[in-house]
Amino acid sequence: MKLKRGSRCTVCRSKGENKKAVVFLSHHRLALCKEHFITWFENRVERTIKEFRMFSRKDRILVAVSGGKDSLSLWNALVKLGYEADGLYINLGIGEYSEDSKRLSEDFAKRINRNLHIVDLKEEIASIPQITESVNKPACSACGSVKRYYMNKTAKELGYNIIATGHNLDDEVAVLFGNTLNWDIEYMRRQYPVLEEESGFIRKVKPLCKITEKESALYAVFNGIDYIEYECPFSEGASSIRYKEIWSQIEQQSPGSKLRFYTGFLKKMQPILKEKEKRESELRTCVVCGEPSFNEICSVCKLKQRLAQV
Ligand SMILES: [Zn+2]
Ligand SMILES: [Zn+2]
Repeated sequence: MKLKRGSRCTVCRSKGENKKAVVFLSHHRLALCKEHFITWFENRVERTIKEFRMFSRKDRILVAVSGGKDSLSLWNALVKLGYEADGLYINLGIGEYSEDSKRLSEDFAKRINRNLHIVDLKEEIASIPQITESVNKPACSACGSVKRYYMNKTAKELGYNIIATGHNLDDEVAVLFGNTLNWDIEYMRRQYPVLEEESGFIRKVKPLCKITEKESALYAVFNGIDYIEYECPFSEGASSIRYKEIWSQIEQQSPGSKLRFYTGFLKKMQPILKEKEKRESELRTCVVCGEPSFNEICSVCKLKQRLAQV
């Protein structure tokens, strides 16, 4: 993403204007001014939504908002593109990190004049630090399944039919890379920008899957969006962060590698995995709460039972 001195915006130049570029997207060979970067970003999100038939302007979308650059940029772009998108903030109860990210999410919701729904894990089950302490599970995996559960449940209760998350290209590449290292076919099969609605699960989409982390940070900055700039304290040492470092080196040496790795997977590998897909007849409903589950009792209800024993 190095910008050469004196570069001019490619789009402006094509219109006979001569504006200075402020960003260079090496893998797209585009030098852009601030205004045209914003348009480029929103067009790319719109094209991704269309390409994977994620949703239309008639759908009611709930954006999973964490207070970070990705979810806030996504929310901003969706509203600007004319979609019906509200936010859902799940308060994980992780001290200062949660307080800061909640405040930033609330401020942003006010700014764009949209609803932000809040689920407080402390009231629903227990905070993430409490859960990690009493259940012997890594914080990120417990947090992931608890977040997924409440996102789905809340969206249904509030009458939304789409959940949109801010996963970006770097996230998707890191996950895919991890799954490839372990040849985790089941996870790979479920790694797609759209997870269709099925037996109790609402359709889930990732409109930023072709946007890099840097691009979404730039979009946030150019739009004056305040976001939480530090990572969740529990994510320290997570393998996904190591994979991201490796991939930024690969990308530096050959720009476009991330996008090739990911889109190649979607085009060439996904259809093969889909074909072999076992119909998920195992999917049933939790006997305790009635939410969809792979087991008789879902993972969150199990977690609750274990917490009650402590
Ligand atoms: Zn321009
Ligand atoms: Zn349950």
